[in-house]
Amino acid sequence: MNYIVFDLEFNMFFRFKEGDQANPGLKNEIIQIGAVKLNQQLEQIGEFNLLIKPVVYKRLNPYVKKKTNIDMSRIIPRRPFLQAMESFKAWMGNEAVLCSWGQDDILGLRENCSYFGFNALIFDRFINIQKIYMEFGGLSKQPSLESAVDGLEIEKSLPFHDAFSDAAYTGDVFRKIYDFSQDAIINWGKVQRENEQRIEELKHLLAKTNICCPECGSQVIKNGEFSKPKKYFAFGFCSHCNLPIRHTARIANKSGEFEIICNNVIYKKDQSD
Ligand SMILES: [Zn+2]
Repeated sequence: MNYIVFDLEFNMFFRFKEGDQANPGLKNEIIQIGAVKLNQQLEQIGEFNLLIKPVVYKRLNPYVKKKTNIDMSRIIPRRPFLQAMESFKAWMGNEAVLCSWGQDDILGLRENCSYFGFNALIFDRFINIQKIYMEFGGLSKQPSLESAVDGLEIEKSLPFHDAFSDAAYTGDVFRKIYDFSQDAIINWGKVQRENEQRIEELKHLLAKTNICCPECGSQVIKNGEFSKPKKYFAFGFCSHCNLPIRHTARIANKSGEFEIICNNVIYKKDQSD
């Protein structure tokens, strides 16, 4: 069994001109896959680095350009996503655990695979190296990869925000902190499907939450409402206190469990939000 420590760079929507629209099926499009392969002893036994040709967001978002120093105008051969994934899958081998820094990259990888119809990748074995680092250091806030590299006194020879060098750094962090006795491998795909199902259930309950007066605590009748995908807003008026109330309900992950969090405030019309 090998560990595949990977990192991705993405391009995403930017409104370059009036009428430009994001594609709701793909929020982040992969433009680079970088990875290192580690054996059971965490020795590096392989490298992978491919640039992907974007087809949904072809022009580079200025924020991505600034962060990554990627220049699309340079003539560098880029592979179509499906071709790149075929190579990645073949390079990974069958007995592999996917590992990355945080959840964004595995979420993005699954989103791209599902959008482009690549079904050969299985997400049932995953290690979140950022999470292990947080437990290792007793941290409550998610640290950047660079801060972990600094914290562990790993030599910085490559630039950050390049998929390959970030994957290599993540591999270095992993090697320094991984304790083989702990059960860090999770069935990410299963957990993710369960979370998504729970969110769907909660979405239907958002509009059923009660609106209460923050002054006297009594339940107030709603006189206006509107919804966003994971948020719900309502307005009411407390006749006891003679106060307009604004109510917000949102789905949030509170210590690992998804739930609805409500907030009722006195609504002043001059508030800009
Ligand atoms: Zn009241």
